[in-house]
Amino acid sequence: MPQMIDGKAISAQIKDEVKEQVAALAAQGKKVCLAVIQVGNDPASSVYVGNKKKACAYVGIESLAYELAAETTQEELLSLIGELNAKDEVNGILVQLPLPAHIDEDAVIQAIDPKKDVDGFHPQSVGALCIGQPGFVSCTPAGIIQLLKRSGIEIAGKECVVIGRSNIVGKPMSLLLLKENGTVTVTHSRTKDLKEVTKRADILIVAVGKPKMITREYVKEGAVVIDVGIHRNENNKLCGDVDYEDVAPVCSAITPVPGGVGPMTIAMLMYNCCAAVQPAGVS
Ligand code: NAD
Repeated sequence: MPQMIDGKAISAQIKDEVKEQVAALAAQGKKVCLAVIQVGNDPASSVYVGNKKKACAYVGIESLAYELAAETTQEELLSLIGELNAKDEVNGILVQLPLPAHIDEDAVIQAIDPKKDVDGFHPQSVGALCIGQPGFVSCTPAGIIQLLKRSGIEIAGKECVVIGRSNIVGKPMSLLLLKENGTVTVTHSRTKDLKEVTKRADILIVAVGKPKMITREYVKEGAVVIDVGIHRNENNKLCGDVDYEDVAPVCSAITPVPGGVGPMTIAMLMYNCCAAVQPAGVS
């Protein structure tokens, strides 16, 4: 059987480390505070926001919730971000995506002070990652690096293939693997003969957004498979982009869904909030 990469346990470990850091900062008279803005009441977003608030409460980070009506204008949202940028006591600002269609997400992301960009989506954060300078890193890919490292999986020199090139997962993932000295290939919807490419991977990161698309024909014997996807199947059960039952027997290590990548995203958000007050390193 493959090694089951336990995102629940690893995320709990990281949250406990952050909790200690928050307590150490408090002892120096420094508070950590995250402002979370939600526009509208998309049910999935409400669940994510609720989980973020819960994690803040656990680690001792103060969370300020701004629940705005779906009709909120872009100007109103930008003005709130401006106010939060100016507040010294607010260390991190998170705007839950997606936003209603009448609001330009890029404009909103760019309005956040890069020093408070705990989601790591601001062009300055992305640019810093690209040229290997310190900065906030998108939480999901940062969490995947922690999953690999803390499961004893070496990245340096490995053939790493990423499926997906989104700004929040695929692209930052490929940059982080490169930073860890992996040999990285990024694939996407226009890749020809995807299986041919993914079969080369020692480490295969799947962020394709299609339930159970990746079967064993895409996977080299003994590969490490990380499944970023989250979907609900016809029975309302969670599943990933990887067909777990089919793939698990051929790989050396794999993340389950749920309990793999999912819990890492919030743990790394907590880490980023702490780093906004006092840069330190888990990575
Ligand atoms: P996205 O839709 O923005 O990107 C999907 C990518 O897959 C695109 O770059 C596209 O080119 C590529 N793609 C689509 N069809 C393809 C095909 N047939 N062959 C090869 N590539 C193909 O999605 P995303 O935001 O990157 O998210 C991916 C998945 O991860 C989704 O299921 C999402 O729900 C999940 N997700 C999970 C977390 C988490 O915390 N676990 C965080 C973010 C996203």
